[in-house]
Amino acid sequence: MRQVALRNGTRVPALGLGTWKMGEDVRQRAQEVRALQTGMDLGATLIDTAEMYGSGRAEEVVAAAVKGRRDSVYLVSKVLPQNASRAGTVKACEASLKRLKTDRLDLYLLHWRGQVPFAETMAGFDDLMQAGKIRGFGVSNLDLKELTEWLAVSRADKTLANQVQYSLDQRGIDFDLLPWCLDRRIALMAYCPLSQGRVPETPVIKRVAERHRATPAQIMLAWVLRHEHVIAIPKSSRPERVRENVKAADIVLSAEDLMELDREFPPPRKPQPLAMS
Ligand code: NAP
Repeated sequence: MRQVALRNGTRVPALGLGTWKMGEDVRQRAQEVRALQTGMDLGATLIDTAEMYGSGRAEEVVAAAVKGRRDSVYLVSKVLPQNASRAGTVKACEASLKRLKTDRLDLYLLHWRGQVPFAETMAGFDDLMQAGKIRGFGVSNLDLKELTEWLAVSRADKTLANQVQYSLDQRGIDFDLLPWCLDRRIALMAYCPLSQGRVPETPVIKRVAERHRATPAQIMLAWVLRHEHVIAIPKSSRPERVRENVKAADIVLSAEDLMELDREFPPPRKPQPLAMS
């Protein structure tokens, strides 16, 4: 699995595993655990979760999946904006750690911007860093203006990542946010890289897929991963799809592939509002 070096020197897999919608149906739990374990076995050892997902139950699924192998996993979780005051951030993180049955998170993100001033959230992240409860912090769903505001807050310069929606058919950030983050070595974590399962099976995607003996979903992922500092976190609760998704990290799209895809999914020519799911 190709690795991405974060600005703090940590290396993480370019393709990780999403967990939104996991933990919502107890009958699916064993398969969800198996899906995450399949991904980890294949080198996708970055797991993205959040206190929001299944109201904490996704974190419990993750705990079951990483049991006995916590040290080989890069664990990411997120604090809800309404909890993101200084004390609230610490409390939310401690609750996540409890559900995840671990003593630290590798990366803790502000899920999106709410009413709490950024400086408060940053102070909470700082307290958690000092206590060794998180190893790094970042943000999610911040557009360029908001990210600039966030980075102006004292000590926010250590921000490791901005997690935003990014896929072939939602590529507005190609205009400004993505190059801006990559220039500053802020990792771009692409969520919904498979458009939440609505993979557009157009003739062009199918043709590119055939050239690589791949599936359209794999081409969607390979397209997101064409940048060196972009991390994709597709979610699947099915082990066979996780295998398919992980293999996409080995596909290198040619200039011809990219040109054809650009014709069908044109790059933005002006700033776009940030897509959010
Ligand atoms: P996604 O990864 O783009 O798509 C997931 C959907 O695609 C699921 O319905 C899945 O179904 C299906 N799928 C997976 N692999 C497939 C394949 N090879 N072929 C066809 N369909 C496939 O969307 P997402 O789950 O919304 O986003 C990924 C992760 O990003 C989330 O799980 C979450 O961790 C994170 N996220 C973060 C935010 C944020 O605000 N920061 C927002 C959204 C998501 P099965 O499970 O049945 O395979």
